[in-house]
Amino acid sequence: MTKVLIIEDEVEIVNLLKLELSHEGYEVDTAFDGKTGLEKIENGDNNIILLDIMLPGMNGMEVCRRARRTTGVPIIMLTARDQVTDKVAGLDTGADDYLTKPFAIEELLARMRSALRRNTAQPEEKKIKSFKNIALNPEACEVKVDGRMIDLSKKEYQLLEYLMQNKNRVMTREQILNAVWGYDYFGDTNVVDVYVRYLRTKLDDSFNEKYITTVRGMGYMMKEA
Ligand code: CA
Repeated sequence: MTKVLIIEDEVEIVNLLKLELSHEGYEVDTAFDGKTGLEKIENGDNNIILLDIMLPGMNGMEVCRRARRTTGVPIIMLTARDQVTDKVAGLDTGADDYLTKPFAIEELLARMRSALRRNTAQPEEKKIKSFKNIALNPEACEVKVDGRMIDLSKKEYQLLEYLMQNKNRVMTREQILNAVWGYDYFGDTNVVDVYVRYLRTKLDDSFNEKYITTVRGMGYMMKEA
């Protein structure tokens, strides 16, 4: 089931959207202020976000900007203001689309379908398989640095591939654990630190490069330049 998170402080709009989207088969969650919304984006597994701009506490632009540090989930901005500057600013923060209130529900549904399609339509071969001088061959599960084959265990390979696919984004230990070890993995996030250390020994130390960056209090990222 496709999960949608609505972040909007106007109760009537939330209720209306909830009714319509549930009817369309979406699983709906809601947040009525920016801070709660951001927490739900970061901790949830939503497939798409509807984000109002004028929100109490943290506004929608700020929520979007912060959300983009950790997730590529499609975000559609909603706003009462029909100004080009808002639209540009909204898309600048990393939103996928923009809808001015009042809008027809059919229009929203069409935009949502389109954003979801774009998000899942990335063909496998287009996904990033190189980082600096590291090259991944997903079919053979091989890793080469400057053409030299690197011997990695399966988990080390999967961890490296996951970080490379999400390069320039901070991935939390929980995100990494879920993606590489699976939701049912019964361990704590220390295993992530241990495997990052293995990778660093084989890559960073061997090639005197800083491939994997620790972002204190958040997680890890592979940052280009
Ligand atoms: Ca509002």
